[in-house]
Amino acid sequence: MSDYGSTDIGWTPIMEEAERATRVLHPETMQLPRPDRRRILTVANQKGGVGKTTSTVNLAAGLALQGLKVLVIDLDPQGNASTALGVDHRSGVPSVYEVLLGEISIADAAAPSTQSQNLLCVPATIDLAGSEIELVTMVAREARLKEALNSEALEQLAPDYVFIDCPPSLGLLTVNALVAAHEVLIPIQCEYYALEGLGQLLRNIELVQSHLNPALWVSTILLTMYDGRTKLADQVTSEVRGHFGDLTLRTVIPRSVKISEAPGFGQTVLTYDPGSRGSMSYLDAAREIAERGAERKTA
Ligand code: ATP
Ligand code: MG
Repeated sequence: MSDYGSTDIGWTPIMEEAERATRVLHPETMQLPRPDRRRILTVANQKGGVGKTTSTVNLAAGLALQGLKVLVIDLDPQGNASTALGVDHRSGVPSVYEVLLGEISIADAAAPSTQSQNLLCVPATIDLAGSEIELVTMVAREARLKEALNSEALEQLAPDYVFIDCPPSLGLLTVNALVAAHEVLIPIQCEYYALEGLGQLLRNIELVQSHLNPALWVSTILLTMYDGRTKLADQVTSEVRGHFGDLTLRTVIPRSVKISEAPGFGQTVLTYDPGSRGSMSYLDAAREIAERGAERKTA
């Protein structure tokens, strides 16, 4: 960059694009700043199909491919995050279910992802489906995951980032995720009714803050499935930015067929089609999250 900068041409848009392409095609050459303390993010929105899982796996892979150690906890019985990360989640494999029951540790359940050597995933099996009911009668039912993620247990895996992918409900699994985390990342789909139900989510987060986890805060809003051809997408974008301000990432995730195809191949879009717009946008969003985290520590 400085070589170019010293010529008369200066830093042109083409050079900027070239640098971006290098970053996208060879993300391993780009090292993101490590947070000074481990960041635990819960990805939540009780609305179904807004991009929670897609964002969890692609952001996690984006950070991992750029040099950070990441642990994904799949807390949805559908097991979609496990699928996209190439991790076995057939009934019977060590999973988050046994972790919540206190039978095994998080390290026993964490499996390496095919997507990056820096990436681990605690899978969810169908056994988790009954746990919303089973948890009800357990001691400290809201804090089972927090207990499993105590610093001693996490030290074995030493992730820089932990992402927890929630099911589309505000039940006990999501409450466990909110109690175990420091931060909430809310994906919002650029569609009709995007903001519907958000009030309820925010009220639940406040309840958890005041009773169970005072340190919890909504640190990140991510706009997903943006379709530039529609006016509606821009309306939703400005409404969300108006409401959440700087918590909203500058990077917006476009609607992209590649993003939706990738899980069918047990992949994230970052390995499925590294040069695609969808892949670039998730790499950019991951970078933004890491850089904001680093800014905060010096602030
Ligand atoms: P659930 O509430 O069921 O857990 P979710 O919030 O986790 O859903 P996803 O599973 O990530 O949402 O996404 C819902 C559907 O939209 C999936 O089929 C996914 O492949 C698709 N999808 C997600 N993001 C995009 C995108 N940017 N472009 C195109 N399709 C997308
Ligand atoms: Mg999901």
